[in-house]
Amino acid sequence: MAHKILIVEDESKIARFLELELKYEGYEVEIASNGREGLEKGLNPEIDLIILDLMLPILSGIEVCRRIRNSSNVPIIMLTAKDDVSDKVMGLDMGADDYLTKPFAIEELLARIRVALKREVTKKEASNSELIFNNLILDKNKRQVLINDDEIILTKKEFELLVYLLENRNIVLSRETILEKVWGFEYYGDTNIIDVYIRYLRGKIDQKYSLNMIHTVRGVGYVIKDD
Ligand code: CA
Repeated sequence: MAHKILIVEDESKIARFLELELKYEGYEVEIASNGREGLEKGLNPEIDLIILDLMLPILSGIEVCRRIRNSSNVPIIMLTAKDDVSDKVMGLDMGADDYLTKPFAIEELLARIRVALKREVTKKEASNSELIFNNLILDKNKRQVLINDDEIILTKKEFELLVYLLENRNIVLSRETILEKVWGFEYYGDTNIIDVYIRYLRGKIDQKYSLNMIHTVRGVGYVIKDD
């Protein structure tokens, strides 16, 4: 699917020029011609990247950037006037990913867009699928657990239990909570099953690799703690 780029730029000639170039490159394009419109459209989760001019009516580009960053990590490339160093610094402080000084070559902007979008894809893939704890790498998409490149073979429930513990690391999880979240409604037995599965995991991971990953919290439950 084509990436959707929002151009926030009040100078209509520049906006139109960028729109044509980006569409030619296969991007979908939206335009906002003032800061408030830029903020509204920029918060739409369908937008994959924002090109944000700093000198804007109603709401400045810096302010738009700051407010978007309160709730979104969408890549933002700022366009700044020549020599306006303080604006650049402020924009980057407000969480912009990159900036270009006007006038710029369109090839330069296209290159920056490709880099920013690629970085975003890499970040998303990593955050969506991998859970890492010291030497252990769990890949949810591949349903694979590696320790020092050895593959650890886990049953379905062992795997799900480990995912749940890793996703909630540093939080003590009660047996009841684990039972509800990992076993759900398919299981009607008592919470001793948790102790049994924790023992399986410890046998395959903690003991085999001399790790101290899963901690018992007496009278409560279990936790995976960062060192
Ligand atoms: Ca402007």
